[in-house]
Amino acid sequence: MLTPETLAQVLQEYTGFKFDFMLNDNRTCMISMKGNRFFKKRLSIHRMFLQAPDDVLQAVARFLKKRDKKSNRIINVFIQNQSSHLDHTPKVKKITIKTTGVLYDLQAIYDEINQYYFDKKLDLKITWSKPGRGLNHIVFGRYFDTLKLIRINQMMDDPFFPYEFVSLVVYHEMLHHVVPSYYDQKGHFRQHGPVFKAEEKKFKQYSFCQKWLRANKKEIFNRQKAQ
Ligand SMILES: [Zn+2]
Repeated sequence: MLTPETLAQVLQEYTGFKFDFMLNDNRTCMISMKGNRFFKKRLSIHRMFLQAPDDVLQAVARFLKKRDKKSNRIINVFIQNQSSHLDHTPKVKKITIKTTGVLYDLQAIYDEINQYYFDKKLDLKITWSKPGRGLNHIVFGRYFDTLKLIRINQMMDDPFFPYEFVSLVVYHEMLHHVVPSYYDQKGHFRQHGPVFKAEEKKFKQYSFCQKWLRANKKEIFNRQKAQ
C-alpha cells in the first residue's frame, strides 16, 4: 500500500502535472481535478487508489491527461473490484454452475471475451440457466452484481443462435460489471446509459448481431413460448 505522499508523487511523475493533492472518501466522484494553466491544479482522489497497482495508476494519469475511454475502463474495473462491499460471492458455491452446454461452452466464450476486451481483469462466474416462463419479453442474460454471477438463457444453447450473438450477450452481461448501473440526475435507474451503450458497440460483431436479432425476433419469441 502506498502512502498518500508516494501516490501524489507517482501521479505527478506520470502526468507531468504539478497539483495540490487530497484523498477523498466519495462514493461517486472518485477522481476529480480542478484548475487550469492559470490556477494551480488540485487533484482529489479516492483513498482506495493507495492500493492501486501500477497499471491502474498509469491509467489514472492517462485519464487525467486525455480523458480516454480505455483508461476510464481500467479505472472502473479497479473501482468496481475495490468497492464491492456487498460481497455475496461465497453464496455462488451453493448455486450450481453449469458452463458446458450441448453446443456452446460459456466458460470458453467468457474467457475469450475477458482476454480480448477486458485484459483478463474480470473475475466473474457464468452459468446456463433455465429460461423464465410466461415472460412477454425475452431475457437473454442477467448479471447479479453482488454475486458476480452471469446467468445466460439456456434457450440459446442451440445452433439457431449464432456464436457471435451468444458472445454478445455474454459481453453485454460482463459490461454490466464494468459499467455499473446508476441513478441519473432525474433519479431514474439507468442500466444502459450512454457509456454502457458506447462500450457495447465496441463488440466486434455488434452490427451483425443487431441485424440478426431484428431479422429473427419472431422466431425467437416462438421458441421462447415453446420452452
Ligand atoms: Zn443489460
